Amino acid sequence: MVDETMQALFLSFVFGDEMEELGRRDRDRFLKNWANGILFLSTWRHGGTCTPQTTDPFKTPEHLHASAALQLPTTHPNESTAPHLVRRPPAMAAAHSGDYLGRFVAETGWYNEVVLSAVTPGNWWRGLPHPVQSWMRNCVGGYLLYFISGFLWCFVIYYWKRNAYIPKDSVPTNEAMRKQIIVASKAMPLYCALPTVSEYMIESGWTRCFFNISEVGVPMYFINLALYLIFVEFGIYWMHRELHDIKPLYKYLHATHHIYNKENTLSPFAGLAFHPVDGILQAIPHVFALFIFPTHFRTHIALLFVEAVWTANIHDCIHGKIWPVMGAGYHTIHHTTYRHNYGHYTIWMDWMFGTLREPVDILKNE
Ligand SMILES: [Zn+2]
Ligand SMILES: [Zn+2]
Repeated sequence: MVDETMQALFLSFVFGDEMEELGRRDRDRFLKNWANGILFLSTWRHGGTCTPQTTDPFKTPEHLHASAALQLPTTHPNESTAPHLVRRPPAMAAAHSGDYLGRFVAETGWYNEVVLSAVTPGNWWRGLPHPVQSWMRNCVGGYLLYFISGFLWCFVIYYWKRNAYIPKDSVPTNEAMRKQIIVASKAMPLYCALPTVSEYMIESGWTRCFFNISEVGVPMYFINLALYLIFVEFGIYWMHRELHDIKPLYKYLHATHHIYNKENTLSPFAGLAFHPVDGILQAIPHVFALFIFPTHFRTHIALLFVEAVWTANIHDCIHGKIWPVMGAGYHTIHHTTYRHNYGHYTIWMDWMFGTLREPVDILKNE
């Protein structure tokens, strides 16, 4: 026998808009007629019996009964509304999510298409699973970003504006930069596993990512963005601090980055010169934030880009003096004292937790 819940759900999906038009009494009659029709067709197709086959974890009999208890929704699923922001019966939310989540897959598929068709000869990559393509695209993007920003930065501060920002004796040797490039290049494929996994989780509907700003409105977009950034500041501060305080983590992971402990050994190329696990741990607050705050997908991707450029910036040893930005002046101190300035974009976390050291303090002491 056909499960009544299945009929009800099917009818609500197919005739959601029409349901609005009909009065409650007419609607009940309408549903009954349709239910009888479906019952007849199902019985005919399945030779007299029909039991729902549920392989989707969202569509277990428990969920179907739960949604039956809630009766039919009076509104049609709105395509422009994020499923996790609206209360819906679970089975309906899952079905709606399928369409909604397809937008994220289409978006990342488009990124893959643009990047991989430009750099990969032939079409062989098109047959690879979507997450593998995304990982390849992240790797290409990561290497391009690292080398283009690194070489441009070094060209400007060490050659074009030679000695304008960096004293002669603080310019790193080519050998120091070469070693940083090797460490970062080896780690890049593993770093890129993190955004690939986070994209997969977004595409699977496990996070609170939404697609269009109009779904939450501009004020909520900025409020959530601010909360996301505060969370990332807090998360990166403590992750970085623990990488120093927990001795095995420092010895086996973070020490790789701290071999650059003088001005003339630091360069923009040191920005991604980490043990791969260290780099992933320090970036992981960006992924955790997706589960806590409704986050605009493209903004999240843009913030990961900014992250890569920012880490190049804080290793160039040029003190920008823009309050409350934790620029290279602060981070150079971190590389020389090891106990201060663990923070990320701003000095606030170090100030709050008592580890801030101003570049001017160092000058006074000298
Ligand atoms: Zn450190
Ligand atoms: Zn550093």
